[in-house]
Amino acid sequence: MHRSLIQHLYLHIPFCHRVCPYCSFYKHTPGNTDMAAFVDAILNELTLHQRQLDLRPKTIYFGGGTPTALSRSHLTTLIHGLRQRLDLSDLQELCLEANPKTVSPAKATLLRDLGVTRVSLGVQAWDQPTLTLLGRDHAPDEATETFHILRDAGIPALNLDLMFSIPHQTLDIWTAGLHHSLSLKPDHLSCYNLTYEEDTDFLQRHQTGELDQNQDRDADHFGTTIDLLEAAGYEHYETSNFALPGRRSLHNQAYWQGADYLGLGPSASSTHQRTRWKNISDTTRYNELLSQNRVPIVESEDLTDNQWLMERIALELRTAEGLSLSRIAPSIAHWLPTLQTENLIHLTPTHLHLTREGKPLVDQIAETLIPEEPK
Ligand code: SF4
Repeated sequence: MHRSLIQHLYLHIPFCHRVCPYCSFYKHTPGNTDMAAFVDAILNELTLHQRQLDLRPKTIYFGGGTPTALSRSHLTTLIHGLRQRLDLSDLQELCLEANPKTVSPAKATLLRDLGVTRVSLGVQAWDQPTLTLLGRDHAPDEATETFHILRDAGIPALNLDLMFSIPHQTLDIWTAGLHHSLSLKPDHLSCYNLTYEEDTDFLQRHQTGELDQNQDRDADHFGTTIDLLEAAGYEHYETSNFALPGRRSLHNQAYWQGADYLGLGPSASSTHQRTRWKNISDTTRYNELLSQNRVPIVESEDLTDNQWLMERIALELRTAEGLSLSRIAPSIAHWLPTLQTENLIHLTPTHLHLTREGKPLVDQIAETLIPEEPK
């Protein structure tokens, strides 16, 4: 394989003190995992990849799981280990996901001292009944306190991660949560519509009728989110993401734009020159493999032109930059006048953008614009 530069690095830290019933990411409670061995394994995985790949990251993103579930000493070893192994002269963003209750003032100060430029705080909701339904282990006040701890420590940019259209969450509850979020003046907000994911307790409860899905509620909550956050000066730059000017997530933008990235850690995915691979989703086995200097990859595929195109359409359509018209197949182009007449899209000479009316229908419009897989 021809060596080309990879500029985006993702690290998956799969530990959560409590597992949320709606979450489909690979995660587990720390149990008796040997954390020092886990940190060694991640650094070793990086070293193994460096034999094949040129890495000079512009962005590094710690996701999970809960990266802040790692102790201060393990976070220090991990980030120092990255700094020793990598040329970070191009680094523009070092982002870490955090959960309320896992960030003490000492840990927040350490993160700043380690060079963390951005923290994404998993708040999800600001009212206790919704947090209880979501199985979250923090109270609303604890999330507010954690936000202030991170601000006071001097982390340059803070994101709030929120979820809407949760059963029993009225529009008033969601709106009150948005107002509380805005009162904290975050640099960035990620607002996700609840979806029922495979292999989750929530999906089972949805299938038995206990937890509902309601498209009117989805649309009301989403529309209110756009109106309130745009009025407060946030750019709606991706379907679920809003940023103050100059405060977009560089790592996520690179992913939406189709940049190559290397993922480290259990279950992490990577994409390099249209080859995608995935690591084993088993922390114990991951540690064992790396202790034997074996790469922990369990799946690898070369994306077909059509798979690649489908992904580009689905991701670009979600962004403020819009979908490049060069991606639209001639066999699909006849849909454009219809979508324009329905006021769902508008066209520039080079791109297709969703209108305010089109934004809630992003997935349906993407389906319309994706050509059928050749037989
Ligand atoms: S804390 Fe985050 S990663 Fe962990 S179970 Fe909950 S939603 Fe999933």
